[in-house]
Amino acid sequence: MDRRVRVRFAPSPTGALHIGGVRTALYNYLFAKKHGGDFLLRIEDTDQTRFVPGAEAYIIESLKWLGIEPVEGVGFGSDASGGPHTPYRQSERKPMYRQYVMQLMEAGHAYYAFDTTEELDGMRERLKASNVDAKYDAITRSTMKNSLTLSEDEVQKRLESGDPYVVRFKLPRKEEVKFHDEIRGWVSFNTGQLDDKVLFKSDGMPTYHLANVVDDYLMEISHVIRGEEWLPSAPLHVLLYRAFGWEDKMPKFAHLPLLLKPEGNGKLSKRDGDRLGFPVFPLNWVDPSTGEMSSGYREAGYLPDAVVNLLAMLGWNPGSNQEIFTMDELIAAFSLERVSKSGAKFDQNKAKWYNQQYLRKLDDSALLPFLLTSLEENGLNTNFSEAYSLKVCSLVKEKMSFTKEIWDISMYFFLDPSEYDLAVIQKRWNEKIPALLKDIQTGLASEELLDAQSIERIYNECLTQNGILGKDFLQLFRVCLTGVAGGPPLFEIAALIGREALGRRIEHAIQEFENLHKQ
Ligand code: GLU
Repeated sequence: MDRRVRVRFAPSPTGALHIGGVRTALYNYLFAKKHGGDFLLRIEDTDQTRFVPGAEAYIIESLKWLGIEPVEGVGFGSDASGGPHTPYRQSERKPMYRQYVMQLMEAGHAYYAFDTTEELDGMRERLKASNVDAKYDAITRSTMKNSLTLSEDEVQKRLESGDPYVVRFKLPRKEEVKFHDEIRGWVSFNTGQLDDKVLFKSDGMPTYHLANVVDDYLMEISHVIRGEEWLPSAPLHVLLYRAFGWEDKMPKFAHLPLLLKPEGNGKLSKRDGDRLGFPVFPLNWVDPSTGEMSSGYREAGYLPDAVVNLLAMLGWNPGSNQEIFTMDELIAAFSLERVSKSGAKFDQNKAKWYNQQYLRKLDDSALLPFLLTSLEENGLNTNFSEAYSLKVCSLVKEKMSFTKEIWDISMYFFLDPSEYDLAVIQKRWNEKIPALLKDIQTGLASEELLDAQSIERIYNECLTQNGILGKDFLQLFRVCLTGVAGGPPLFEIAALIGREALGRRIEHAIQEFENLHKQ
């Protein structure tokens, strides 16, 4: 590669960042790291009508949570400026764009247009009525109010009297625009399919197209890696590079495939997440205008490394069977050649599987904060030692899919069961059970050291004495100690909860199970 690799993530702060956007950021990051280049964050906030307060902070927090950290840009960089191309927020770059619009106009690639909304609507109505594609283009521009049809004096007068205007790009008529996409190969568009896009408005604000191209040029972007939805804009961008005379600095383009619904029929949306019970955003988000809450991966109990891994695999493959990758391994393995052209179906079971894998790899101590938070919420934090909670973490880890489940599946280590799995009691209870439980209780009370082995030994001895088979009783004994039918190895649970809790819980079961069995 002849240029330094510099790529950017350029979101518009219009709401919560969709995981498709997160994946775009991730692929940019991986690509930059792989090639020893720079990854930067630019906030594209030129469309003030779509600006949503809090969205920019949300984007920054999401990238930080996932460890997809830009080296330059809003909220990042080694100092508050964000880096050598500051500012990185387009609204703050506003004064820079006018000179580039003037450059295009002077070279005859752009023109002023003064048409009012009514005039534009009228043009569209007329064309629609005669079944012609209604767009402002090489043909229709000659019938509209712009600097190509009005006299120079008239244009000057309008500009001086402050008439609102826009500057439009003057598209060449029926020209084939071809460019090479790093993922799709050669792509070609005919300018006849496009329209004279607005580049700039009289309030001094550029539109997305102008600001995007000018900033990519000024920020020395080498590769534009972005979602497929921007593919139709790419020919205009190519033409802009040509019009500016910047062809030698034109970035390479790579348009990523869409993230699809699990069924594969269309783009993955927030509604699919709600319908099927998985988040489509990295963090929880409350829409400031409607108050509507959208759930995020972080709060749903996903680990950031798992989210990175699962997103990396949605649209890219390593060419091997390896599924678990650390960030460093992803960087080493990533290439645009292995990004697929077709959309990637989101698979919520796979997402859960990834999280389970990462939970299992975690140190017990990394799970501890999640448990301590729950203990605190339940006012139990001072009753148990950290060493005790850490052992609980090690026992339940294998049984978890999400961090937020930790309290639900470990509650009985801290509280005596308040409810029991009735189905098990009804199936397994019989009149021999109270005597058996009593024997176990007595046996445990007289044993000096209660560890998993001694508890199991006493349990087995009592079973033999009472003529009851282990397979008929083990699950009932689990319900007696924990309230629930499944969980980590039972005798380890018993050893951990200890003598007093064992005595209490067995006593309670002796008193309650007979009645519960009759319900
Ligand atoms: N501002 C655009 C967006 O919201 C950026 C598209 C691009 O990367 O060029 O996604």
